[in-house]
Amino acid sequence: MASLKPVRGTQDVLPSESRQLRRVERIAFDVAELYGYGEITTPIFEFTEVFSRTLGDTSDIVTKEMYSFEDRGGDSITLRPEGTAGVARAVMSGGLQQDLPLKYFYRGPMFRYERPQKGRRRQFNQVGVELIGVAQPLADIEVIALANQFLGQLGVGDKVTLELNTLGDGESRAAYRDLLVDYLQGRQDELSGDSRERLQRNPLRILDSKDDGDRGVIENAPVLTDCLNDTSRAFFDSVREGLEKLGVAHEINNRLVRGLDYYCHTAFEFTTDELGAQGTVLAGGRYDGLFQQMGGRQTPGTGWAAGVERLALLTGEADTAKRPVAVVPVGKDAEAAALDLTQNLRRAGIAVDLGYSGNMSKRMKRADKVNARWAVLLGDDELARGAATLRDMDSGAQSEVSLDQVAEHLTGAGE
Ligand code: ATP
Ligand code: MG
Repeated sequence: MASLKPVRGTQDVLPSESRQLRRVERIAFDVAELYGYGEITTPIFEFTEVFSRTLGDTSDIVTKEMYSFEDRGGDSITLRPEGTAGVARAVMSGGLQQDLPLKYFYRGPMFRYERPQKGRRRQFNQVGVELIGVAQPLADIEVIALANQFLGQLGVGDKVTLELNTLGDGESRAAYRDLLVDYLQGRQDELSGDSRERLQRNPLRILDSKDDGDRGVIENAPVLTDCLNDTSRAFFDSVREGLEKLGVAHEINNRLVRGLDYYCHTAFEFTTDELGAQGTVLAGGRYDGLFQQMGGRQTPGTGWAAGVERLALLTGEADTAKRPVAVVPVGKDAEAAALDLTQNLRRAGIAVDLGYSGNMSKRMKRADKVNARWAVLLGDDELARGAATLRDMDSGAQSEVSLDQVAEHLTGAGE
């Protein structure tokens, strides 16, 4: 039955991978908390408009990648492809703009209809932060510093590069737009169909194209940095100086644009060359135009999102579970006593694996399989003496311990 397969681009996450993903999320959350960001959880689906209005109807996400459907009430609903639009919607519908600035962390699944490959799935997880209501460069510096500390604590700090650019303010972008359209029109024949279509509606987006032909044209295109007005230049300089002061290494990449309409000024990505084509692990920027575009009042914002699976791939290390203690009863009376002992140990905070059935050798095999650090052997003879045998599964050393001291021994014995 075909329907017993998971849908293309989705997957079942088994315990060892779950631990890796949860580790990434936990570290992101812990670092965000250090910076004063609290967790916000928005629904995983919204009215389609929340995304189509904000992401713009020429973005890849809106034109090709959204999972949209009509629900039973006839509303058009979309599974969220990203987190920022939903957070902004929550801020507006909850009247939270009374209390600016707002500092939020989020995590959870996102959905995009893309061609699945390593590091690219149709359901994937992101962690992200949003700092809403601060127009100053200090906000950009803070969210980048947060990202940098998060990646450092995750252990991938030396595998990533921070690339930084500015998109300037509206005036700078308008000046650049004219320059860019002039240039692109001259080389129209070399552009992909998609890009030709965007030439009038959203030429900046062409810079984000992954098409090889487009890339050739883009290589020699004028850069936005040349069109910055004084305000935009000063903003960018402040961000760079702030990062330098904090020792956050970065490279200027004046080809870096964010694919979404509401970005301005700061744009950044943490990239790696260890994941093949899917090299961006964390991306963000300033989105001062977002709230207005959604029909709200102008509210500045800045933030980023990171791909949890990509980061887990990059760390490469398994977040191994604590090695348990295996309780191994031998004999009928011992079996009954084992359940008692097991529960006592668990109540004392010790992870215990109790085999459900089988003889001694089968249960010892199981103890190996779960990578037990210790085994507690419980035989009828020992039980009669009120004792059990502790076996160090690494060295094989054994000693007899009185039953009521097993927990104490195991907690004292360390890992
Ligand atoms: P890409 O250029 O790889 O398509 P993007 O610009 O679409 O990325 P963003 O919308 O900025 O990505 O999302 C932030 C991060 O989320 C990305 O840097 C990446 O780590 C992760 N991400 C995006 N799309 C996927 C996906 N389909 N599968 C897994 N992770 C993803
Ligand atoms: Mg994408």
